[in-house]
Amino acid sequence: MKSTPDLYSCLWQERSAAPSFASILPTRARCVVIGAGYTGLSTALELSARSGGGEEVVVLDAMNIGDGASGRNGGQVIPGLKLNPDELEQRFGQQKGAVLADLVGGAATHVFNLIQRLGIECGARQDGWIQAAHHEAALDGLLDRAIQWQSRGADVQMLDAAQTTRLLGTPIYRGALLDRRAGQLQPYEYVHGLAAAARQRGVRIFEQCAALQLRRNESGWTVSTATGEIRAQQVVIATNAYSSPLLPALPHTYVTLWSLQAATAPLSSELLEQVLPGGLPVSDTFRVLRYFRRTTDGRFVLGTRGAFRDALNINDMARVRSEMLDIYPMLEGVPITHCWCGRVAVPAASIPMLSQPEPGLTVALGYYGRGVAMATRMGALVADLVNGLPAHESPYPVTPFKAMPAAPLHRNVARVAANVMRFQDLFERRVRGVKR
Ligand SMILES: Cc1cc2nc3c(=O)[nH]c(=O)nc-3n(C[C@H](O)[C@H](O)[C@H](O)COP(=O)(O)OP(=O)(O)OC[C@H]3O[C@@H](n4cnc5c(N)ncnc54)[C@H](O)[C@@H]3O)c2cc1C
Repeated sequence: MKSTPDLYSCLWQERSAAPSFASILPTRARCVVIGAGYTGLSTALELSARSGGGEEVVVLDAMNIGDGASGRNGGQVIPGLKLNPDELEQRFGQQKGAVLADLVGGAATHVFNLIQRLGIECGARQDGWIQAAHHEAALDGLLDRAIQWQSRGADVQMLDAAQTTRLLGTPIYRGALLDRRAGQLQPYEYVHGLAAAARQRGVRIFEQCAALQLRRNESGWTVSTATGEIRAQQVVIATNAYSSPLLPALPHTYVTLWSLQAATAPLSSELLEQVLPGGLPVSDTFRVLRYFRRTTDGRFVLGTRGAFRDALNINDMARVRSEMLDIYPMLEGVPITHCWCGRVAVPAASIPMLSQPEPGLTVALGYYGRGVAMATRMGALVADLVNGLPAHESPYPVTPFKAMPAAPLHRNVARVAANVMRFQDLFERRVRGVKR
């Protein structure tokens, strides 16, 4: 497989973005939302829909819309959280856990309905997602997950090894879970569609406008930026893995991981019949998992855990290429045209954090690699709180805002853990013959 070394850019972001929305920064707002990704924009949309107009909602982003994870992810729209529904009921109690499972299980459908309602063109397809098992124990885990969702009425089924091979075009997996609630989209077009819809409803979005400081005052909050200050009754922090220490503990409420992706040139019709012929997006069950899909123009895109940095080099490209070839050796010789990465926030509690550190201040972040559906769904939950819903009445757990104990050490621990997991995966592939 050949690669072009100067193409460290995100495939999705090649689509032209709408011109910047900035005008003169207002001095007052009802709510300032910090972060223009799925969380921030869906919150702004919800707030504007409920008030009949978004004039009083301002969104700030330090970069441009879609420069964070929302414009650079894999576009796999997956319902649920990393925890299974039974685990949610064990942790939060039968009643609250069941409500939560229902909410997160419906998150992908929420996204597809929203896209349809707003008329967002982003190649959205709700026809399934496959989680492929790399060995028997992983398959047992998927079966358990499938049974749990089926008992709650979800359209989830198991595929045997032959069915998996037929849909994926590779014989390396032992079977899979097929979740028909899920699907795929072009992430950058989606985040820009949300921004355009929010703007149409009167929300004012300011790019290249970082919130630099937050101060509480007698009637709410003052948000300082390089171009002025805004006073607001409410502030929402939706900065996910790109958080700065706006609140000292903020960057220490999660662990940052990097996810790395690469896209090939459009495949020939012969290769399209062999590489992911079913056309559904896939994640596998390796500890350092691989997720992959095809694009509407016939490219193959694969992602996996990245190095602990934003800047990429030839080793990153080589790593993702070797993962591609591990699954689809027939891609040998197909050029990689794009390679990029982004930051993922792993929350301390294994589920995304929704928190209210102080009156009038709401924080929502930490979706692991499952934010397309859940970050969008979070918008309505945040808007409820901003509009005065008491935290204990939220269907989603509103948890204390605190830094993880020994937070600075977590990055080092995560690095070591990532290496150990990669070694375990290699061991399983080679010694136990998991692969081929
Ligand atoms: C490479 C990659 C692949 C992924 N693949 C998938 C996938 O296939 N499926 C899935 O469900 N999830 C996936 N995810 C996760 C998903 O993309 C995220 O969970 C989701 O986009 C988070 O959205 P967000 O709005 O919370 O954060 P982001 O989209 O990261 O937005 C945060 C924004 O906050 C801004 N910001 C930060 N600080 C400030 C400040 N002080 N002032 C103003 N603005 C600020 C940033 O500029 C950024 O734009 C992936 C993530 C990555 C990185």
